[in-house]
Amino acid sequence: MTVTELWFDPSLCFIDGAWVPPAEGQTLPLANPSNGEEIGQIARGTAPDIEAAVQAAEAARDGAWGRMPAADRGRLLARLGRLVQDRAEDLARIEAQDVGKPLKQARADALALARYMEFYGGAADKLHGETIPYMDGYTVYTLREAHGVTGHIVPWNYPMQIIGRSVGAALATGNACVLKPAEDACLTALAFAALAQEAGLPAGALNVVPGLGAEAGAALSGHPRVQHISFTGSVGVGAAIQAAAAPNVVPVTLELGGKSPQIVFDDADLGAALPFLVNAGIQNAGQTCSASSRILVQRGVLEEVTARMAERYGALRVGPALDDLEVGPLISARQKGIVESFLARGSDLTVAAQGDLSAAVDGGHYVAPTLFSGVAADHPLARDEIFGPVQVIIPFDTEEEAIAIANGTDYGLVASVWSRDGARQMRLARQIRAGQVFLNNYGAGGGVELPFGGVGKSGHGREKGFEAMYGFTTLKTVAAYHG
Ligand code: NAD
Repeated sequence: MTVTELWFDPSLCFIDGAWVPPAEGQTLPLANPSNGEEIGQIARGTAPDIEAAVQAAEAARDGAWGRMPAADRGRLLARLGRLVQDRAEDLARIEAQDVGKPLKQARADALALARYMEFYGGAADKLHGETIPYMDGYTVYTLREAHGVTGHIVPWNYPMQIIGRSVGAALATGNACVLKPAEDACLTALAFAALAQEAGLPAGALNVVPGLGAEAGAALSGHPRVQHISFTGSVGVGAAIQAAAAPNVVPVTLELGGKSPQIVFDDADLGAALPFLVNAGIQNAGQTCSASSRILVQRGVLEEVTARMAERYGALRVGPALDDLEVGPLISARQKGIVESFLARGSDLTVAAQGDLSAAVDGGHYVAPTLFSGVAADHPLARDEIFGPVQVIIPFDTEEEAIAIANGTDYGLVASVWSRDGARQMRLARQIRAGQVFLNNYGAGGGVELPFGGVGKSGHGREKGFEAMYGFTTLKTVAAYHG
């Protein structure tokens, strides 16, 4: 499927169950990152479109959707999941052309979206309150209730996965959603809306308004009748969204950046570790919030790990998304510029290996995957999020030093520990500051069931799993005195 064969019109918004042109009639060009060619026009939604979407969501919340029994909501989500699964190949091809991610990675995202709908469809009628022992003559219980209208602001790097975890959990708990996808990649958000329509989701339960962050995004995050904001993206924009939502005193979930470490001890199973060490850094060309961009290696295996990682880097081929090589282009010329400026700041470092750019095509936003070795923990490339296919190897001697380095950035999203020593695994799992710690594996982005989110500048709140459903609900305590 090419983007000229879409089963929906990408220049429209999806509001109140209908495809409508943006109120101000403007569009934005959409480019294919693999070759820079324009592949279509998307709606440039603005404040009036957000207002219409919020009104539609309010009507759904107060109407058919809000009153629907949880089991029926769950069935609808499960049906939507099956439609996503049936169209997974189409969705993957759309995503590959829109985001630039190699097809097999785009396929994994489409299947993850289907799985989120399956998980949250099944979970919809399994969330319940409690009865609480209290004073004589009382019965006290809690009710888990939807916030109402939820806003979802999504980045371009994993549209399908992030829509799945955010919108999936919000719909399962009975919220009505307004989704603002990223201006750089919004096609699968619109495809998802079209499939939701086909699945029979009531009008207004899901609304999609593409547009710029400063226009549609700002209108949504500061909207006084939105009761919860879920944002995934950069730290700066996350802080701006929290500030915009503050006067409305609504909860905000922030899933922000990371500088996630993998820690390799001398006693690690290197054969098991090596694929994870590299893949977690170059997946989606490193444009992954949970990318593992820091590899901490104990001195006893430093030489071997560096050599074996370098060998893998040398075999990485970079090229157009539909060629399905190991690494695709970056999303935009802007992102390429950011990554290249980081590479320039690494000119004082040792390049252990780089990937192969010979399959890259003109006009695409390609950079060579780059592995730096022997990097000091306080170097900017070892501290700042690069958001490109760049990893640094940081040597260490002791466990204490490894923990200090792992915790030595502003972020705390994901970490992993490679060691056969069970007591050490347990110590590090407790002492590392991160939302997720993996022991002898690494799960960049995977795990629909696993609560996910950060500490520090990586954000707050949790998505995925049941935990997300607590976040998308509010708890009411009912205390009845009956004597
Ligand atoms: P971004 O913050 O620039 O944009 C994300 C979204 O916010 C887009 O939809 C954009 O239109 C919107 N936006 C921009 N300005 C806005 C404003 N003023 N008000 C409201 N909305 C606005 O992020 P990006 O460049 O698209 O994504 C890259 C960043 O996202 C990286 O830092 C990465 O680590 C992070 N990220 C985090 C996670 C996670 O789960 N923790 C996942 C993916 C990406």
